[in-house]
Amino acid sequence: MATGDDKDTALPSSCPRCGQELVRETTRSRRGTHEWRKCPDCAWMGRPDPKGAPILHPFHRPTGEEADCVFCGEEECNRASESFVWDGRLCEWIVCTACGRENVRRIGPSPA
Ligand SMILES: [Zn+2]
Ligand SMILES: [Zn+2]
Repeated sequence: MATGDDKDTALPSSCPRCGQELVRETTRSRRGTHEWRKCPDCAWMGRPDPKGAPILHPFHRPTGEEADCVFCGEEECNRASESFVWDGRLCEWIVCTACGRENVRRIGPSPA
């Protein structure tokens, strides 16, 4: 029987891509902690909704210069959301796991 008062239980517990059980990962930075869910099998990565909705937002590790944080200069530390359209531009939500800064990066014009 589920108790229903732990908000974590509302989150998907299995990988949307391959069905494996997701594992919790916490990254610590100077600005606090970030929580993630990772698939040990296919490396799918999701972030719990910051507003508490029972969903995981898919994230990935960018490659090359995109992986380096523009704020703290740390390399290979960024994680990026799936792209979305905001203000007529195609954007990604970038989270640095080293310094904890988050920002929206414009990656191009809207595809529509
Ligand atoms: Zn998976
Ligand atoms: Zn950083």
